[in-house]
Amino acid sequence: MRFSDCLGQERPLSIIRAHLAGSRFSGAYIFSGPEGIGKKMAAKIIAGQLNCTGQAQRPCGECSSCLKINKEEHPDLHIIQNGESQIKIEDVRDILRQASFRPYEGMVKVFIIDNAHKLNTEAANSLLKVLEEPPKDAVIILITHKPQNIIKTVLSRCKAIKFTPLIRAQLENILIKNYALDKTTAHFLAYYAEGRLGLALRLKDTPLLQEKNRIFDSFIISAKPLDRNIMGQSKEQLQVCLNILASWFRDIYLLKAGAADKEIIHSDRHSDLLKLIPKFSFKQLDDILSTLSESSLYLEKNVNSKLLLHNLGAQLWKV
Ligand SMILES: [Zn+2]
Repeated sequence: MRFSDCLGQERPLSIIRAHLAGSRFSGAYIFSGPEGIGKKMAAKIIAGQLNCTGQAQRPCGECSSCLKINKEEHPDLHIIQNGESQIKIEDVRDILRQASFRPYEGMVKVFIIDNAHKLNTEAANSLLKVLEEPPKDAVIILITHKPQNIIKTVLSRCKAIKFTPLIRAQLENILIKNYALDKTTAHFLAYYAEGRLGLALRLKDTPLLQEKNRIFDSFIISAKPLDRNIMGQSKEQLQVCLNILASWFRDIYLLKAGAADKEIIHSDRHSDLLKLIPKFSFKQLDDILSTLSESSLYLEKNVNSKLLLHNLGAQLWKV
């Protein structure tokens, strides 16, 4: 993993590189920005740069230190990634204990706290001291897509680096050139992932392209109510289904408002979408999009999903 692998993040990376090269290097950082745009990758690249034993370009991506960091198996790289679960004081105590030791085999210990907005208050407070005065041979990197949920005392002790998504057309080109995707797939992934390279890459190996067309054919073209199959799906699958439905209706809205063909997500079904334009008024499309977004929120809060989908179906197909 090298700096050049973190495509489209030249600006935050150039700030980080300047810090790494100069005396301004700070021991505590917070990387913020939407999910799936390379924040964690950038943090690992920093760990690589600080510990690489290569002679020329660092991180070289090839020395034993770089290889271990890529695989997250380096003894001086500590990553807290609890997913959607809370980060508790025990997790932070582990960081504090590890930070008090010298690096085992590298030069700098790197601590990455992924989803740092999941730090509970007790854990966040216990982190303050090490953020205030990190040991000279340690770097702490907090990663978050919800910095507003992190207490101010933590934020104020970290150097903030903002990451932003790529321009969608730029991501489409990267997916074609660097990942050999065909234009239809690249366009869909770039626009559906809203310019987030990491997310697009995660989605590329899923059957999302077929699934989104199946959802379109079943529930929009044939106007079938959400069927039992959908009802029986997991919360995550339902969330994907709601996102896909929203993306279709957003496209219909955009085309109706006169957006250029290339600006829509589902350009592979452009002619089908055009046929649907007269079927919906702007008001109806607005209502549908609001219902879809409310449904997503309810689903996140574990509101009875069957009832939710029943209500959603009733609204979508009354038109
Ligand atoms: Zn290396």
